[in-house]
Amino acid sequence: MPRPITATVHLDSMRHNLARARACVPAARVWAVVKANAYGHGLERGLRGFAEADGLALIETEGALRLRELGWTKPILLLEGIFEAADVAMLATHHINSTVHTVEQIAMLEQAGLAGPIDVHLKMNTGMNRLGFTPDAFPHAYARLRAIAAVREITLMTHFANADELEHPRLSIHEQVARFCQGARGLPGLRSLSNSGGVLHQQELQAALSNDWVRPGIMLYGGSPGGKSAQAFGLRPTMTLASEIIGIQDIVAGDTVGYGSRFVADRPMRVGVVACGYADGYPRHADQGTPVLVDGVRTELVGRVSMDMLTVDLTAIAHARVGSPVVLWGAGLPVDEVASAAGTIGYELMCAVAPRVRMLEADLTTNAGQHG
Ligand SMILES: *Cc1c(COP(=O)(O)O)cnc(C)c1O
Repeated sequence: MPRPITATVHLDSMRHNLARARACVPAARVWAVVKANAYGHGLERGLRGFAEADGLALIETEGALRLRELGWTKPILLLEGIFEAADVAMLATHHINSTVHTVEQIAMLEQAGLAGPIDVHLKMNTGMNRLGFTPDAFPHAYARLRAIAAVREITLMTHFANADELEHPRLSIHEQVARFCQGARGLPGLRSLSNSGGVLHQQELQAALSNDWVRPGIMLYGGSPGGKSAQAFGLRPTMTLASEIIGIQDIVAGDTVGYGSRFVADRPMRVGVVACGYADGYPRHADQGTPVLVDGVRTELVGRVSMDMLTVDLTAIAHARVGSPVVLWGAGLPVDEVASAAGTIGYELMCAVAPRVRMLEADLTTNAGQHG
């Protein structure tokens, strides 16, 4: 018997969440973002779960090639573009759309002497101050790209710093959109602005936001980009991290639990040991009180998370026994709640699920639950 910890990917929920994104921005085409191994779900599952997307976007060049090998024929976008001149050929050969955000990348395209054609997303820095040309430098970058014979379509792109909070006091979406419009004024080409936060707020932003292509990531995986809960946004969890109780200890007041003896019982307690630790990707920083489901009943973490195990309070769950099912996050327990108790975000938890965790698949629509 393998160790009981598993991560089940819900393909039907991936399709549901993609449909939610479409409903928010009916006029836009959708890049489903599958970077970081489809946010920990597996690139191939991303491909299948988001088969209806208009394109797949990611960071990893080898991932882009893998998507072509797996038979994806629709567009692919590299969100950080290429990393060296040798990567240019791949763009034309495999029809991969590249983000262009530095003069170095423009020079690589100029010097490659490609026959093309290649399509690019030209990125503007509208205040995030990570990637892209400033609004002032943008028209010149555009002109240089336009002069390269191999370059076909140029899509104009930016990225929001605070898409979860419309009126952020330091940098609002409205301010970023205004800067984008200024830098892109008079330039032809499709527009791509929104991540999940922007997609979910399209209603409020309607007038300001004209998106030809949107780039949702976290919402497709049932996580909230912030603001409201994923459930309130109509999203469904796409990954359930589950395990079992593998041991039980009955302790008395004054006993401690785990490394550092950080937890001290103030009353008699039953403590359950779960086969899941930080080497599985569960956050070591999860604090006492982090929610856990045992046999469908909500309880909480006690003591420190160790490499292979964590401990939970079973005192109020009389029927719990060795073998009882445990949900760490997913169906019935939003990943965002666990993340917030650990001082992080759902993105990080899903991306960090370790290779030793067996990945399973469930697909309620076709009723084809299976081992993957
Ligand atoms: C990761 C990423 C996204 C998706 O962001 P979410 O917050 O997960 O929706 C969109 N655009 C770019 C450029 C990204 O790097």
